[in-house]
Amino acid sequence: MIRDNIDQVGRNISRACEKAGRSPDQVTLIAVSKTKPVSLLMEAYHAGCREFGENKVQELLDKYELMPKDIKWHMIGHLQRNKVKYIVDKVVLIHSVDSLKLAEEISREALKKQVEVSILIEVNIAGETTKYGVKPQETEALIREIAALPGICIQGLMTIAPYVDEAEENRQYFAQLKQLAVDINNKNIDNVNMSILSMGMTGDYMIAVEEGATCIRVGTGIFGERQYQVK
Ligand SMILES: *Cc1c(COP(=O)(O)O)cnc(C)c1O
Repeated sequence: MIRDNIDQVGRNISRACEKAGRSPDQVTLIAVSKTKPVSLLMEAYHAGCREFGENKVQELLDKYELMPKDIKWHMIGHLQRNKVKYIVDKVVLIHSVDSLKLAEEISREALKKQVEVSILIEVNIAGETTKYGVKPQETEALIREIAALPGICIQGLMTIAPYVDEAEENRQYFAQLKQLAVDINNKNIDNVNMSILSMGMTGDYMIAVEEGATCIRVGTGIFGERQYQVK
């Protein structure tokens, strides 16, 4: 089941890349495993997945302990400053940095643990009031401030596009994020590169790949619908 889903996503990535004249090896598939049990993550692992994304610190830590050690873990959800210390040395990339304060905390913990932490800046590209992320027009200024911090390397941008019925509607936002990354890259800011563009989820990842995504975050399309417990 999960293996079939992963194969399907792989074929879709290939098709989108072909359309855009890109190579599929420029696109990393992150299996978003939030709310799913380790048994299902192991199925994905056996089907070849080595990159997993979680949005809650405790859940990431629990799964980190239980899963094989060659997995690359991605923190994709909103991160509270008091939880930074638990994950800086366990994740390959924090996708969701949108404030100087959070970046300062990551920097402090990175120095303590003697690691360099790769981060993305989360941009609220569509200006939705319900979403985290920095405004597009404030992104460069924030990047310049964060770039000066030790122990942190800014690797690119991330966005969560609006929830839409037609994936095509999000093409404009993916194109805008790509353009923003190109513009910032052209400024040649020290300690900043714009090599990673994390955009596209189950409903719209093919459009995101066509527009230049290098990282797509797919949950439902691999593991099926999520069941959230009513508390
Ligand atoms: C849950 C989540 C995803 C995956 O969403 P699907 O629609 O299930 O693919 C991607 N990115 C972030 C930040 C998420 O929280």
